[in-house]
Amino acid sequence: MSRVKELLSFIDSPTKEEIKEITKAYNFAQKAHAQQLRYSGEPYFNHSYETGKNLAMLGMGPTVVIAGLLHDIIEDANITEDEIKNEFGEEILFLIEGVTKLGKIRFRGLKRHVESLRKLFIASSQDLRVIIIKLADRIHNMETLHYVPKEKQLRIATETLEIFAPLAYRLGMGILNRKLEDLSFPFVYPKEYEKVQEIIKEKNNEDVELLKKVNRTIIKRLAKEGITNIETSYRKKGMYSLYRKLERKNWDVNKIYDIFALRIIVPTVNDCYKALGIIHGFRRPMPGRIKDYIAFSKPNGYQSIHTTIFTRFGNVVEIQLRTAAMHKKAEYGIASHFSYKTKNKNNVSYNVWLKRLLPNIHKLNESEKDKTKNNETEIPIWIKKLAESPNNIQSKEFIKELKKDFFEHRIFIFTPNGDVIDLPTGSSPIDFAYAIHSDIGNHISGTKVHGKLVSLDTELKNGDIVDIQTKKESAPTKKWLDIAKTTDAKRHIKATLKRRREKENKNN
Ligand code: MN
Repeated sequence: MSRVKELLSFIDSPTKEEIKEITKAYNFAQKAHAQQLRYSGEPYFNHSYETGKNLAMLGMGPTVVIAGLLHDIIEDANITEDEIKNEFGEEILFLIEGVTKLGKIRFRGLKRHVESLRKLFIASSQDLRVIIIKLADRIHNMETLHYVPKEKQLRIATETLEIFAPLAYRLGMGILNRKLEDLSFPFVYPKEYEKVQEIIKEKNNEDVELLKKVNRTIIKRLAKEGITNIETSYRKKGMYSLYRKLERKNWDVNKIYDIFALRIIVPTVNDCYKALGIIHGFRRPMPGRIKDYIAFSKPNGYQSIHTTIFTRFGNVVEIQLRTAAMHKKAEYGIASHFSYKTKNKNNVSYNVWLKRLLPNIHKLNESEKDKTKNNETEIPIWIKKLAESPNNIQSKEFIKELKKDFFEHRIFIFTPNGDVIDLPTGSSPIDFAYAIHSDIGNHISGTKVHGKLVSLDTELKNGDIVDIQTKKESAPTKKWLDIAKTTDAKRHIKATLKRRREKENKNN
């Protein structure tokens, strides 16, 4: 199979026009990068291709896949903006420019400010599709990181672990989150990685055998109670995620019950609860480990019911119950909203979907039927509405809404060292100082914005570089309470004022 054909096989029923455009972008990028090589010695275009393929596998449509194929041609090949616009149109140019701009943000700074960095990253992308392209690009860069000079490896891997992987998690893209974490882990924590490998080595085979037995029993029981048409698989916990958990459990691997988990995909939400009842009816659940993420989904949208049961082999197994729609959302998150096609409301055909998921799941049974079709009723109404409106509007509106939630009322302020801190709009240097540290807030003596002295009630603007000067004898006054905007600053000011009052009362 040619590489273009392979790429196209991941796209759900592309039109003739779409096939033509993708093929054109493929050839264009290959030609543009013809003279360049990667650190590995391969043609540079391999990277463009893999990025495009990652996007197609995520279920992204032709526009994003094309932008993925072309994402480095402004930066690394001598192609002008005008050329791209003429050949592929404004939307694709916009996406490529977005990716190029994001590539210029430097991630340095204090660990406690990485959260602000992540937000800055999203805010500067303008369009969430740009972030998804950037993540697909980062996956391939991480897959080939061992070819990169040693001194660069740690910086890139740390950036991936602290910015990109959590971002993928936040956007609900479980597949990308796990991949990015596990690709960076050995570079950032080589010793710990070895240790985890050592621990997991003994676990593998016996646990899978056990899971298979438990799986057979459960399928039989569920079928007896009328729940058929189910899909089961198991997942192995990611290495980095396991490492984090081992740290929390004092490296006692016996306290970790979800190294392997049995995943049961049932047709409806009702079936999830029914199956839970059936399973608990014949296997005792472990107390405190029943989690209903369907009624109370995780902040990133994750839904499932988790329970851990004692098996008849004297072991424990974690079981995750969910519908196909929940499963898809857990793996693809925000990317799944972009993959909805107007002409095909049931979303991608089951085969294409399965093909994308296959490298990540280990199937335990097979069922012929297209499960996605049974889940029409479970697709949230707001997503259905998106699917009914024309493609462009749906993604633009969706992004607008999403960004409103996250960023409309935030500004990003820099320290002279380039650390970034996000604050609500209307914040003052006082808020900024307290956001860095309460000791700095409590002793502000002056403020410079872009090198110029300003008063404490100055309203800060997005992108300001703010330098706070402190003196030991400086202290908050009552007036600061009117100026401060953040609850954090107000709280510290009040506490300091109160302490001072108490001290004065004592002295009187
Ligand atoms: Mn790239």
